[in-house]
Amino acid sequence: MRVLAALVICAGTATAAPIEFRVAGDGSLRARQAVPPTTAQHPRSRTIYLDRDGGALSPGASNSQLDTSSLIERPTTIDGWDIDDASWAETVACVRAMWAPYDVAITDVDPGATPHIQVHVGGSPTSIELPPKIGGVAPMATDCSVVEHSIVFVFPANLRNDPQAVCEVVAQEVGHSYGLDHELEPSDPMTYLSFAGERTFQDKTVECGETSARPCGVGGSTCRANQNSFRILLDRFGAPGSDRAPPTVDIVAPLDGSVVEPGFAVIASAADDVAVARITLYVDGTAVATQPSSLDFAIDPDLATGPHELVIEVADTADNTTTRRLAVHLDDGSDTDFVPTIGCSAGGQPSLALVVVVGGLLWRRRRRDLRRRPSSVRECRFHST
Ligand SMILES: [Zn+2]
Repeated sequence: MRVLAALVICAGTATAAPIEFRVAGDGSLRARQAVPPTTAQHPRSRTIYLDRDGGALSPGASNSQLDTSSLIERPTTIDGWDIDDASWAETVACVRAMWAPYDVAITDVDPGATPHIQVHVGGSPTSIELPPKIGGVAPMATDCSVVEHSIVFVFPANLRNDPQAVCEVVAQEVGHSYGLDHELEPSDPMTYLSFAGERTFQDKTVECGETSARPCGVGGSTCRANQNSFRILLDRFGAPGSDRAPPTVDIVAPLDGSVVEPGFAVIASAADDVAVARITLYVDGTAVATQPSSLDFAIDPDLATGPHELVIEVADTADNTTTRRLAVHLDDGSDTDFVPTIGCSAGGQPSLALVVVVGGLLWRRRRRDLRRRPSSVRECRFHST
């Protein structure tokens, strides 16, 4: 197998990170850009958007929702891919099959606010001021973490407008933004080596490199000794239907740092991309209530006055958890000298009374909306420093 190999580091301008160019086995140039580490291991961007229509882009950190790209240095418009619908459908089907083992969605319809990696399929590399023979280019984090909301480019005209070749370069460029390096396995799309068949991510631990082995990384960094593209993607995404994203929790009451009265209510709701399993309330380290997906619980009216810690823990059906802690001060009205200091910078400030009154009014309105009797006597919305 004869492989051309060349590495050119393009310094670019002072603003953009350097881009590495190499000649792949098919003769096309490939490129990638080393961007700062993100540490993200489990992507929130779990949709790959194949965009064949082109569009306007502005320079900036890559963000598929803002149409900003770290790979361009000035506002530009990139052309789409002028290809028949059958070839496009073949390309999309290939990409879908390539990523089918993982819990990631493939679409050619703009996913809008859903976090996604956007693949511009079409246009010419010269329109983003790259050498004319580039087949694809992507940002890759120096710690091989996930570049969320990344925008990558694939230029079909340099890939014979062949759906299979385009699909494989899409896999490589998107793979870079999910933290995969080039590797010395010809049947894997992360390779630069020639291969006669159709490539798929391989469950093989192999060395990184273009034509000779080197540690895995980009821009001179090392993030792992070798690479198993299939296993890394499986770990990052999980299998289809698995749930790697933790649930979210929205606490309605009480506010962190607030003063509460005996029998106060704790109200919270949880959400998850798959399903919430339970929401648990702890008071001073003791579990006092577990409910399915939302919490509406009246605290024991005999709870002692003074400071208390509330912990709300939400778990999804895959046992991913999210925990929130609140500090409250229980005041039964008997302590006439009590000045709320929990969460407040200090007692006795001229503005404190106003804060207490305004906070109390807000609190009452909120409670009325919830059709519950008002129970909070005083409220402090300041948070401790
Ligand atoms: Zn590459």
